[in-house]
Amino acid sequence: MAYIEPAPIKDKENPLESMMSRFDAAARMVGISDEMYDILKVPARQVIVGLPVTMDNGSIRVFEGYRVIHSNILGPAKGGIRLDPAVNLDEVRALAAWMTWKSAVVDIPYGGAKGGIACNPREMSAGEIERLIRQYTVSMLDVFGPDRDIPAPDMGTGPREMAWIVDEYSKAKGMTVNSVVTGKPLVLGGSLGRTEATGRGVTVAALAAMDKLRMNPYRSTAAIQGFGNVGSFAAELLHERGVSVVAVSDISGGYYNENGIDITAAVAYRNNNRGSLEGFTGAEPISNEELLSLPVDVLVPAAKEDVITDDNAESIQARMIVEGANGPTSASADEIINRKGIMVVPDILANAGGVTVSYFEWVQNRIGYKWTLDRVNRRADRIMKDAFDRVFDTSQHYKVPMRLAAYIVAIDKVASTYKYRGGY
Ligand code: NAD
Repeated sequence: MAYIEPAPIKDKENPLESMMSRFDAAARMVGISDEMYDILKVPARQVIVGLPVTMDNGSIRVFEGYRVIHSNILGPAKGGIRLDPAVNLDEVRALAAWMTWKSAVVDIPYGGAKGGIACNPREMSAGEIERLIRQYTVSMLDVFGPDRDIPAPDMGTGPREMAWIVDEYSKAKGMTVNSVVTGKPLVLGGSLGRTEATGRGVTVAALAAMDKLRMNPYRSTAAIQGFGNVGSFAAELLHERGVSVVAVSDISGGYYNENGIDITAAVAYRNNNRGSLEGFTGAEPISNEELLSLPVDVLVPAAKEDVITDDNAESIQARMIVEGANGPTSASADEIINRKGIMVVPDILANAGGVTVSYFEWVQNRIGYKWTLDRVNRRADRIMKDAFDRVFDTSQHYKVPMRLAAYIVAIDKVASTYKYRGGY
């Protein structure tokens, strides 16, 4: 359950336009010029490479690889590498831009990037994937770098692939450069606390929002959709902070107990049941749809995109939604949710705990010192809390919902940094 940093793409025809359209309203409120809008929209660098790889049967196949640096205005670009048969330049461009905004919201000194290789890793042997990743790294030697562009895992890649990149890059440089990627195995310079970082950040954001709404965690209830990396850590930590988690769910369905679910028991059950909650007896079965409309204080969608739409938004009774997943609320539902007065802590803020601890991994690699888990957690919590407060204050100032406020914070930061740095 390693940390990956995927993002939702709504429009397969034109992912970049679709992604940027969310920023239009924010850009208007910040009052940026058309020129600045164009600067923010056009990626700084786009690289396409052909990657010949010897397959296990001796034949040579050529794969296409991409790397897009959307922005390096705030610092070195940061973003994952995905292996997926459908990946293409448009999608990578949109995902790279998404990373720029996400880092800007939590105020970490990174620009946004993304990479991809069009391939199907499920049909390839470990040796074939290794040769592909090494070939891709060699092709990107003048793109990657701890001060230039720092890849991380995304769909189809994990710590194993990151280790290969470190090795290949280090060989080329004649020295060990583990800060060239994040999401590495712990022994190779990975950070403690990274696995649980996103769920932890979701919890910090939820507690901060509860505080603003004067809700006492010990008298509050939560329902959490998705019991994987993000959902189960959020459930454990919310439970630890006194919140009664009355419902959880995964792909097998929902589980409800009005007295609160024993989360430790649910995690143990899932771990001994091939990762599934199916058959969990500590709660009564409900559907995933029913979970979304429970009368709880906090709803955490932490499974997949587009689960809250204009079809079901009206039935939501939660006082707040904290988006653990990327893009769980469709744009068409926003208006209904806002009209109902439900506070939404948007994905770009709520699930940024993962990218924050990636940043810490890079910092630790560069200072050559390993932080304790406690230090990682305390610093990550502070970044998440500060980011929440910044977005909340912006939402009050502009009198806009938190989602729009998060975009305003991000755009404003990148645009004003650009103004200071200047251009030709
Ligand atoms: P995961 O694969 O570990 O867990 C996904 C969970 O959702 C599983 O319990 C699965 O059974 C459940 N699920 C899948 N389809 C479902 C459905 N239709 N209804 C109900 N449950 C369903 O994934 P994850 O890493 O926890 O990621 C979850 C979401 O959070 C994704 O949107 C991901 O993009 C986003 N996210 C994850 C991270 C991270 O650090 N892992 C960071 C940022 C954003």
